[in-house]
Amino acid sequence: MPNTLSFRLTFGYTLAVVLLVGTTLFALYMTIDSVVSQRMDHELLEDIQEFTDIVRYEGVEVLQEVLRREVRYEDPSDFFLRLFDDRGRQLFSSDIRHWGSLPTDHDTVQRRLQLDPTPIMQTQQFADHRYATRMVYSSVGPGLYLQIGESMEEAEEIMRLLRTWFLVIFAVAIPLASVAAWLMARQAAGGVEAITHAVAAVGQGNLGLRVEVFDQRDEIQQLALSFNAMSGRIVELVREMREMTDNIAHDLRSPLTRIRAIAESAISGSANEENYRNALADTLEECDRLMRLINMTLDVAEAEAGVAITRSEEVDVGELAREACDIFEAVAEQNEISLTANIEGGARLRGDRPRLQRMVGNLLDNALKYTPPGGSVDVSVRTDADGLHIAVADTGVGIPANEQARIFERFYRCDQSRTQHGFGLGLSFSRAVAHAHGGDIRVTSEPNRSSCFDICFPARHTTN
Ligand code: ADP
Repeated sequence: MPNTLSFRLTFGYTLAVVLLVGTTLFALYMTIDSVVSQRMDHELLEDIQEFTDIVRYEGVEVLQEVLRREVRYEDPSDFFLRLFDDRGRQLFSSDIRHWGSLPTDHDTVQRRLQLDPTPIMQTQQFADHRYATRMVYSSVGPGLYLQIGESMEEAEEIMRLLRTWFLVIFAVAIPLASVAAWLMARQAAGGVEAITHAVAAVGQGNLGLRVEVFDQRDEIQQLALSFNAMSGRIVELVREMREMTDNIAHDLRSPLTRIRAIAESAISGSANEENYRNALADTLEECDRLMRLINMTLDVAEAEAGVAITRSEEVDVGELAREACDIFEAVAEQNEISLTANIEGGARLRGDRPRLQRMVGNLLDNALKYTPPGGSVDVSVRTDADGLHIAVADTGVGIPANEQARIFERFYRCDQSRTQHGFGLGLSFSRAVAHAHGGDIRVTSEPNRSSCFDICFPARHTTN
């Protein structure tokens, strides 16, 4: 439990609330305490000032009369008042029976007041008194000293009430904060838990599992979105791999079936040398086909893995395209297709020449393969703001719009091309080579009219 995220979040949040509420209440308590004490001192000093004025303007007798009246309204157990002359003789006193032994060190107090007339304030806890007493000792006229003491009951009661309330607030705030923190932590950790379960399920083979994504865009939801995207990608990859293995199996089965049939007919046929030679020649042909398939699969894998450009050299792309046209000229003639080339000079690229040659050769081979007699194929090399373009356009069978994205997948062949020879690996190899050289390959096509494959290498990868 202490290791769970929920517990740690709850603990941290509660601790923060305890510290915050505790510090705030403590600061508030200290401020109120100071204000209440200051107010009490202020009232005592106001009394001293009033009595000082009476002595100054009306004399000691009037003061004694006023003091007599004053003590009549006060509770003698909460309040006392004494007037002394400069020899410490008591001139007036309230009823001090409740106050036990009041301090009587007049000499010291008076000497201090002569040096500094600021009234002396003291707090004292008297025996048998529940509350402390605040006292002031001050000069109220020449040779006249007044001592007033007042119980701090009101101030202490206010502070006691505050303490009770603050404790209640504290006691309520902590459980509330803990519950709120626990709920929030559960909500946050709940998302993580859902993803953890989903990851575990994927680990056990339940691919394509999705976690629920809610509206809010917090980190957990982002994680859920990323998980779903990853899960979708895994499903897609597995589908591609299955398709690929199906295709490989299919492509391997045909030549193997043929080899088996050749061997069978050789054994069961007439045992003469010519028959055997023919059977062996056919077997060799099928073996070559198998080898080509295996080699091309490896080449695509190698090019896709990015190990393509091991031999990097400066390649004149125009020259490379022209050479390709020369090689395929005979095939074009044979198929009654007009092959033209539009090549700008000076287009250069650093890269792997043999692979680039095969890339262009594949496109040209396809264009001639999928264009009926009487059509035309055009190879162009040009440079524009996007970079260096090699385009192979034909007036052939075209590619249906829904298949245009898939023709670059390994072993993918459009239904209409099944009658033609091929493994469905040429375009995946060409795209892998383009990618390995920092470029990309795009197709635009109109079914039954035309196709154009455009390879673009961004300017930063070219060398002119
Ligand atoms: P393949 O060996 O089948 O030609 P590719 O990978 O070169 O394999 O091409 C994949 C598929 O794309 C082909 O089977 C074909 O259906 C389609 N395709 C490629 N180039 C063309 C083109 N120029 N015109 C029409 N279809 C094409």
